[in-house]
Amino acid sequence: MEPLPKSGLYYPNNLARITLIALENVVGTNGVNALLNLANKREYIGNFPPDNMEAEFDFADLSCIIGSLDDMYGARGSRALALRAGIATFDVALKNIGEAVDVNDEGFIALPDVEKIRVGLSLVGITFSQSTKNIPAIREEGDNFIYSVAYCPICWGRKTEEPSCHILTGLLKGALKWVTHGSDYNVSQVTAHSCGAETCDFVVPKTPIR
Ligand SMILES: [Zn+2]
Repeated sequence: MEPLPKSGLYYPNNLARITLIALENVVGTNGVNALLNLANKREYIGNFPPDNMEAEFDFADLSCIIGSLDDMYGARGSRALALRAGIATFDVALKNIGEAVDVNDEGFIALPDVEKIRVGLSLVGITFSQSTKNIPAIREEGDNFIYSVAYCPICWGRKTEEPSCHILTGLLKGALKWVTHGSDYNVSQVTAHSCGAETCDFVVPKTPIR
């Protein structure tokens, strides 16, 4: 992966740490070390960012690491791994940051699924944009929600042939599974910054696959 110019936009250390832990869960310690090596981010090998909220992890560094996943495993392999890592990111974040919503609360369980989706999307938006002042826009279009990210740390500064912020797709899938107690939603990314669009947009159907 070619080095990317620094973005001047920063992701909180703990979220970068959580992303690396999630990648490690999926590709193993050797895999994540190889990834950091390929991304020229050797300073993080065995030395993930600290567990604090300081916004110090440059978007370009995260994007470069994810780009290296494509280089290492090919677009197809990388997609499957990044989706799994995204789901794992949500799980690790819940364990580390805590549950902002009590999904087992009776009142919550009684909500219609569409409301639960709204809560899940907002939760991801708020959690993963901490200290970046970049809350994603969430809007409804017919049978779908559109989750729209203006400043995406996953594809920042890269060019891809098709929208490839799969880790974010996985993250959204993980959140929806959690708020709905296990439903699987077919989240798909339709536009990406790395493909020349203004925003990375994800279509979230209001109805689950199962
Ligand atoms: Zn993106």
